[in-house]
Amino acid sequence: MFSAVTEDGQVFHLIGRQSREKLKQTRFFCPVCAEELDVKLGSQKAPHFAHKQNKSCTIDIEPESAYHLEGKRQLYVWLKTQKASPLLEPYVREIKQRPDILAKVKGNTLAVEYQCATLPPDVFQKRTAGFKQAGMIPRWILGVSRLKRTSSSFYQLSAFHWQFINTSQNSDLLCYCPKTHSFLRLSHMIPFYTTHFYCSVQTIPVRQAAAEDLFFTESDSSFKHTDWTGAILRFRRKTHRFLSKDINRLRLLFYEKRQTPLSFLPTEVFVPVQKGAVFKSPVFVWQGYLYLFITDLGYKHAPIRFSAILQHCKLHIHKKNILLRGEYSDQGLSEAVKQYIEFLCKKGFLRETQKEVYVLNQPAKRSQSLQDLIEKDRSCFIE
Ligand SMILES: [Zn+2]
Repeated sequence: MFSAVTEDGQVFHLIGRQSREKLKQTRFFCPVCAEELDVKLGSQKAPHFAHKQNKSCTIDIEPESAYHLEGKRQLYVWLKTQKASPLLEPYVREIKQRPDILAKVKGNTLAVEYQCATLPPDVFQKRTAGFKQAGMIPRWILGVSRLKRTSSSFYQLSAFHWQFINTSQNSDLLCYCPKTHSFLRLSHMIPFYTTHFYCSVQTIPVRQAAAEDLFFTESDSSFKHTDWTGAILRFRRKTHRFLSKDINRLRLLFYEKRQTPLSFLPTEVFVPVQKGAVFKSPVFVWQGYLYLFITDLGYKHAPIRFSAILQHCKLHIHKKNILLRGEYSDQGLSEAVKQYIEFLCKKGFLRETQKEVYVLNQPAKRSQSLQDLIEKDRSCFIE
């Protein structure tokens, strides 16, 4: 931490240039537990305060890495340039919490937490709830070191990342890297595999970042269909050796009903659905079951009702053929399925004849070669 109180009760920040000699001669105390603190002036980390060994403070203090300390320092300096009157590590007595930075943006008090270490879900929830109770908007910023990029526009996002996304007003994931002095903003996450997400990525150098935009405006970055298609291509070219249970069940079903191996799955089961994150199963698994249901009805020239599609989806959820992420939300599920059907209509695969009743437009004949399929993937997702 960077803040302490001196013997005469003044708040002191270890930010900016300080005389090492003077620091060594001054006594500093923890603003929370009032214990005396050590000033750490090593070369690895930015100068900071630490509790003496064997002293456990009444507030949870995570060990802070050099990366974390430097990021927090830069964010504080940035918020000063934004005229956001930032307070560094203030102790909020009524909730017994100490956010990294408190700032005023657009008339709101933001509790900015820069998170570079894993955080147990209960601690995360408790802190978030505490800030809200105190009338503050919690804004979590993740250390870029906690992100794993797997290919162009694709990131591995776990439950740890999702807790930040779910509490964010814009459903985005804001990250900061003190090494490159820039923010990374991930938005419009669309899962391909369970923890493998397409994300729209914006890199914003801190010098150009405006706090109002970053905290209160939705990202306007566009969907990169070529990166999405790239993921389908990798899937088609992969030798599918080790399959999870849900993928294997779908594989067997497609083989039995359509004599189609995994690499030849139709383009229509790889639709990038914005609300698709409700599903934990890969995109082609949940869409695969719906595709088979829709085409079975279509071949019989039977009407395809939205309510029946949704019911069919729920049946497979019940059978655990389709897995959901987190708690079951009827509305979220319905929206995701609706977006999928709307896409199929937009591309002329389905046609709406009455409200929420569809017919299959073309006999979905299986493409002959892998090359044909790849060509279709390439053209299908251009907006
Ligand atoms: Zn303390």
